[in-house]
Amino acid sequence: MGVKLVFVTEGEAPKVKANTMNKRNAMRYGATKKPVPSRPGRSYFKSVLKECLRMLDCLGVPWVQAAGEAEAMCAYLNAKGYVDGCITNDGDVFLYGAQTVYRNFTMNVKDPHVDCYEASVIKDKLGLDRESLVALAILLGCDYVPKGLPGIGREIALKFIRSLNGESVLHRFYQWRKQFDDPTVPPKSAKKTAHCSVCCHPGSAKEHQRKGCSLCASDRYCEPHDYDYCCPCEWHKAEQDKKNNPLEYSLQTKARKREGFPYHEVIQEFLVNKDKLSKVIRWVRPSLPCFQNFALEWMDWPKHYACEKIMVLLTYYDMQERKAGRQHDGQLQATRILKTRIRNGAPCYEIEWVKPGSYVFPDDHPADAPLLTIEEEFLFTAAYPDIVELFRKDKMEAELLKQKSKSGRCLHNTLYCTLLYVSQLIYELHPNISLHSLTDQPYSSLIMSCLEWLLEFFQVVHQFIRLIAQASFSCILFM
Ligand SMILES: [Zn+2]
Ligand SMILES: [Zn+2]
Ligand SMILES: [Zn+2]
Repeated sequence: MGVKLVFVTEGEAPKVKANTMNKRNAMRYGATKKPVPSRPGRSYFKSVLKECLRMLDCLGVPWVQAAGEAEAMCAYLNAKGYVDGCITNDGDVFLYGAQTVYRNFTMNVKDPHVDCYEASVIKDKLGLDRESLVALAILLGCDYVPKGLPGIGREIALKFIRSLNGESVLHRFYQWRKQFDDPTVPPKSAKKTAHCSVCCHPGSAKEHQRKGCSLCASDRYCEPHDYDYCCPCEWHKAEQDKKNNPLEYSLQTKARKREGFPYHEVIQEFLVNKDKLSKVIRWVRPSLPCFQNFALEWMDWPKHYACEKIMVLLTYYDMQERKAGRQHDGQLQATRILKTRIRNGAPCYEIEWVKPGSYVFPDDHPADAPLLTIEEEFLFTAAYPDIVELFRKDKMEAELLKQKSKSGRCLHNTLYCTLLYVSQLIYELHPNISLHSLTDQPYSSLIMSCLEWLLEFFQVVHQFIRLIAQASFSCILFM
């Protein structure tokens, strides 16, 4: 398939994450005086990571270091077009701006599979863009907002986002925040104050009679209103909102109780890119000696086993390079194709290679046994066309020879039978003719003999006809 991998390593955990972890730990174990409890095993993880990077270097696979979350870097590489997609199970990668995500990737031989998700499809089919996804994470919970809004499920959150008809959800969140912080806007859950029975505004008829009503704009008394009149006070406005948009009202009420909503830092973490690519992503040739040493040191792999394992990658790399028109003497040299093969339903060749200098065979490997691998026919042909040409030529010649001998044998048989038949006929008609042995004769001489016999046969037939003619003539005479 020609897939090339780029590994992304985790950087420093973002501050919002550290805060969340601290809060979580505080909730679990009680508040500690230590500002940032360093996680045990973090340094161990880092040292293992370092070795992983060393292994990738041996294999020639490029890697890049993320500033913070690895998903953020993956998304950045994808959004900028450096890579075609991200392999991760972490859905946050979409919030960071990834376009194509491969989830549930498994290399299980019996059931290898991967699910592909496209940001464009999520937008077209679900109406969710990157900002909406961030909003969803805030409403439903994510790494940085562990619980989301209480009692808000996926259905309600999606319904609310859709009810905005494309208007920015995050913008709406910030509007809410402004309202929550504005002392002049009373909370919508505030209790209803007493209203005047005459004008239906806040206050009392008695009070309005003496001091007037501000909403009626009077100094004394107030203006009577009908029962169905809508009072413009804050409480009634809120009631109206609640009636018009109960969904937003309920979310807003819940969001008001959350300190820090809508978590500006979290929104920034997802929407503001911190990564940059400081080096060129380049795949280099796997190093046989480097990998042998690494595998021996870390996995106790004998050198010949490491060679056997990495050979797949090495042949693949060289074939890809040659296919792209980059050839040099340092590449693997194919000696010949042994035979065609089928592997996983794909046509392949069994190839014999010139053993690279640093390649190690197992001890029991016969000295004259060659280095063999099985390679995909399509790729090998593109990389080593001359070897394939030679193989095809040889194969065609062998095929021709086979056919020739087959058809030769067939012709031989027909001739043989014919000759036998003819010779028998001749013998029956003309017993005087001596019969040569038909077997053990070269082909050309057989044909010669056949011709001779045919000539003799015609002579016999001629004599036979003459005899019949004579016989009938004598019959006539006799009559
Ligand atoms: Zn009044
Ligand atoms: Zn009034
Ligand atoms: Zn009112």
